[in-house]
Amino acid sequence: MIKRYFTFQKSNAIAPYIWTILCILPFYFIIQVPSTIQMVLGVLLTLLFFILYRIAFISKGWLVYVWTLILIAISITATSLYSYVYFAFFLAYYLGNIQNRVTFLTLYFIHLVSTSVSINYSIIMHEKLFLQQLPFVIIVWISVILLPFSLYNRKERGQLEEKLEDANKRIGELVKLEERQRIARDLHDTLGQKLSLIGLKADLARRLINKDPEQARNELKDVQQTARTALSEVRKMVSSMRGIRLKDEMLRIKQILEAAQIHLEKKMEPNLSNVSPFTENILSMCLKEAVNNVVKHSGAKNCFITLEQSWKEIIMTIQDDGIFKGSHNGYLKGHGLIGMKERLEFINGSLELLTTDGTTLIIRVPNDSKPETKEGQL
Ligand code: ATP
Ligand code: MG
Repeated sequence: MIKRYFTFQKSNAIAPYIWTILCILPFYFIIQVPSTIQMVLGVLLTLLFFILYRIAFISKGWLVYVWTLILIAISITATSLYSYVYFAFFLAYYLGNIQNRVTFLTLYFIHLVSTSVSINYSIIMHEKLFLQQLPFVIIVWISVILLPFSLYNRKERGQLEEKLEDANKRIGELVKLEERQRIARDLHDTLGQKLSLIGLKADLARRLINKDPEQARNELKDVQQTARTALSEVRKMVSSMRGIRLKDEMLRIKQILEAAQIHLEKKMEPNLSNVSPFTENILSMCLKEAVNNVVKHSGAKNCFITLEQSWKEIIMTIQDDGIFKGSHNGYLKGHGLIGMKERLEFINGSLELLTTDGTTLIIRVPNDSKPETKEGQL
């Protein structure tokens, strides 16, 4: 909300001055008329215009038509009697803020036709004051044509962006909920079952300890074994939750390439700073699949891996000097490259496959790092 407020402030930095001038300007035109009655009528019309303009902004339904038509009538009167055409600009701004499409289009055309007719009428009448300000009149007329549509579209886009933001938040919450349920399920299926088994066996051993010490010892051995299994399952669960770190994956691929007798040359940033674990996990999975492909398909002697981080993106390339074995559209054959592409698209990243000299995969992901915050500062 605060962000939106500032965006509004920034995009309308000079708007208050323009509006102030436009509010004072009608009185300049009114005082030019010779008769006092016309002058009083002009002031009253201007005040009525501003009051109704304010009311129109907060009204809904059929009242929008009523207030707008009265405002258009005042605008035409001001154009013909006082050569003051600038109310049309206020109306163009107001129309751009109408949300209902049918109401918007109907009132837009009524306003456009009525303003065009009143401008032409004033030109034909050769009013001196009107002709003097012809360049500004043309600007107002162009605004009457373009401004409502530009505002209407901007508003619609803003609403869509808001909806998208809400949907993304909702997806984020659902993902968290799903993850919590998965952890709860895993805990229930692993730890829950094992702990109740340990409880039952320990109880049995306590009852057997005097009657049948040998059997009690066997039960206690089972208890120990079950506890060990539970511990190793918990470890596996925790490590799968942590995701794969790039550093760990690098060690693993080094071993794989060594075993396949492929020379590895790497040029990497010492440490990716402040990358989210999710992005790092996806990069690690891509690296793993790319190197698996080098070993499985390429027949290469060398493999080059680079990793660079800029403020905008992280680029990882995996290149080999073998021969690309896939069809021109290599994605179609297996699941590896398709999966990689889909995962990257999920985080707004991209995958590029070059197959001229060996195979080169260029992986780009947006840099989602946040500026480092010092402790205690937020
Ligand atoms: P999967 O990854 O599902 O086990 P896969 O490795 O065959 O199967 P992809 O990883 O999608 O599937 O690769 C598609 C095809 O592209 C491969 O079958 C292979 O022919 C070709 N290919 C991919 N990477 C290389 C590479 N580094 N060198 C040569 N050919 C490659
Ligand atoms: Mg593969």
